[in-house]
Amino acid sequence: MKMTAAQRNQVHDWLQEHREEMLSDIASLVAIDSARGEEKEGMPYGEGPYQALCEGEKILRKNGLSQVAMHGNRVITGEIGPGDEAELGILAHLDVVPVGNGWTVDPLKMTRRDGKIFGRGVIDDKGPAVMALYAMRALKECGIALQKKCRLILGSDEECGSSDIAWYFDRNPVPPKTLSPDASYPCICIEKGSLKVEASAQWERETVPPRVTRIDCGVKINVVPGEAEAVIEGLSKEAVEEQAQKETSGVRFTVTGEGDSVLVQAKGTTAHASLPETGNNALTGLLSLLDHLPLAPSRSRDVIHGLCQLFPHGDTCGKAAGVFQEDEESGALTLAFSILHMTDEGVMLNMDIRSPMCANETNVRDVLVEQFASLGLHMEKEPMNPPHYVSKDSPDVQRLIDIFAAYTGERLPALAIGGGTYLHHIEGGVSFGCEFPGYDYNMHGADEYALEDQLLLSSEMYAAAIYDICG
Ligand SMILES: [Zn+2]
Repeated sequence: MKMTAAQRNQVHDWLQEHREEMLSDIASLVAIDSARGEEKEGMPYGEGPYQALCEGEKILRKNGLSQVAMHGNRVITGEIGPGDEAELGILAHLDVVPVGNGWTVDPLKMTRRDGKIFGRGVIDDKGPAVMALYAMRALKECGIALQKKCRLILGSDEECGSSDIAWYFDRNPVPPKTLSPDASYPCICIEKGSLKVEASAQWERETVPPRVTRIDCGVKINVVPGEAEAVIEGLSKEAVEEQAQKETSGVRFTVTGEGDSVLVQAKGTTAHASLPETGNNALTGLLSLLDHLPLAPSRSRDVIHGLCQLFPHGDTCGKAAGVFQEDEESGALTLAFSILHMTDEGVMLNMDIRSPMCANETNVRDVLVEQFASLGLHMEKEPMNPPHYVSKDSPDVQRLIDIFAAYTGERLPALAIGGGTYLHHIEGGVSFGCEFPGYDYNMHGADEYALEDQLLLSSEMYAAAIYDICG
């Protein structure tokens, strides 16, 4: 059912009155460094994620949810509303990415300043998890009765593969409706598919200079690399520097002498692999430089040249490799060349591709297998991860667009994204917030922040969505 204007006001006022309490619950979760750690007895994702679940369990109980439970030390749940089975599941996560460098405030101590809160997890996804909890509590304490049950499902392994939620749903029913506050407003109806590329080749040890003796770049497949380096034997520092100055990639090079060899360090701009066009890939920039050096004929030289032809710097959508495609609903294919290690005896590399609805194994994966084969590289024929799709005309999507419009005055179309959420494998699941359009919250970076008023507004919108579905 739709809330009445009086109920809307009641929820609004209740949330404003409980602002401090909500922020202090967020702060107590931020204080726990819940990045994935080493597995320990009873802590499948390490100490931090487990501690965050324990703290979360306390918070769920304190805020009056019923049937609060821990599941396999991976997931916690709590509920409001009558009945046995939940009609609606709200999925959020209490793990975070590592704190990292460059913070101007303590990342594990929530800081309030000018209407903002800073700290690791405040927007991804501890703040939104607590925001959803307060939406549930607000309905309960305002006496706005539900006809059906709503279950809050909080995981602890979202950032490292979401095995927590897979484990939970292997043992518990999937609610007919699911929402997640772990993406953007107004809502997400498509999450692109993906393909993780791994290719490699070995060859006879190379010795004839000038040659590249090693290239090293990248650690995570889902990150556009901001740094890369290579060692060259048999060319002077000056010769390499001269070519480095002619490169037009925007990637910056530092060339230093290393005995009778030269070290080249490349610096670009890192980005998430689902948005490779927002970065400047240090690896493809470095390969371009190496390709323009007068190297002796060799397998490694041919591979470098071939990779530059197929995956030239700046081509973040697979055009040169022949896999580019796009459709109106889900947008364009993206390709991030994220990892490469080469020695004088071989090469291995990884790429992260996010694929639109029209992409499939024949027109993406199999094409790449052949392209790599032409360079003498073997690519594993792994299955592609299919896209997540809910029609933008479906009532579940329209409901959220209506709520966002009613509370913000902005009627915006549903989004297709390259990233994946907990809902990727849940039929009909729609992500709803909590990122507002036009904001960069430094998610996963230094000084991650959220806006207090936006979190409260999100809570109001979640209360409306819950009542719409369960009221
Ligand atoms: Zn997240």
